[in-house]
Amino acid sequence: SIDLINLTKTFGPATAVNDLTLNVRDNEFVALLGPSGCGKSTTMNMIAGIEHPTSGEIRFDGRDISGLPANKRGIGFVFQNYAIFTHLSVRENLAFALRVRGVPRQEINRRVADIAALMRLSDKLDRPSARLSVNEMQKLAIGRSAIAEPAIFLLDEPLSNVDAAFRAFMRTELKHLQHALKQTMVYVTHDQIEAMSLADRIAVMSNGVLQQFGTPEEVYNAPANTFVANFMGSPS
Ligand code: ATP
Ligand code: MG
Repeated sequence: SIDLINLTKTFGPATAVNDLTLNVRDNEFVALLGPSGCGKSTTMNMIAGIEHPTSGEIRFDGRDISGLPANKRGIGFVFQNYAIFTHLSVRENLAFALRVRGVPRQEINRRVADIAALMRLSDKLDRPSARLSVNEMQKLAIGRSAIAEPAIFLLDEPLSNVDAAFRAFMRTELKHLQHALKQTMVYVTHDQIEAMSLADRIAVMSNGVLQQFGTPEEVYNAPANTFVANFMGSPS
């Protein structure tokens, strides 16, 4: 499990994340939900090790990982602005993380086929990724992170650039992916419907402060304050 303990991040005089304490259980799907600028990406970047907390601690299975570099944390990350190696084919993009690790060719082929099937990219494996649609690029970005089987999978608004129909389709796909891979997922969104439909628990943030952390039913039916009620569109 992941424990964020009294995490604070300041940029000059501004506090992006303010004394955030949160636990993500193994295989849990947690959504970080809140309006633009509330500190979602900063929180994810601290879990990933891209940003360092001003104060507080991050524990992974009880072990303090605050001092570990990003590439030693066993964390997969799909960024808000995804980055695909456009000069490589879909297959080569998917195989990349495994090849770097020296995974045997046969196993790479098998896992690439599995992930491509999950992401419905099987018929596009040999296409140059520069020639994918925006939707397909996003599936590739998610597949490329998922294939490395990270202990923790962080997704920062992975559906913000895709069209509405595809977004609805991907919600279902992401749930399948989590069940298939049994990964712990932290998922950033500013869309409450998306959080409600995907997450086991939702962490609602505003101005860097955690407002409520609970199941979709809890935050919707029993909002902790008026901010949560308004943001969730709770019945009054
Ligand atoms: P969005 O939904 O727009 O992506 P967010 O919830 O991800 O927003 P953050 O990117 O975490 O929000 O930003 C939180 C606050 O911290 C904002 O006020 C932002 O301007 C500030 N901030 C983030 N990164 C930096 C930085 N590198 N330097 C200065 N301020 C920053
Ligand atoms: Mg962000």
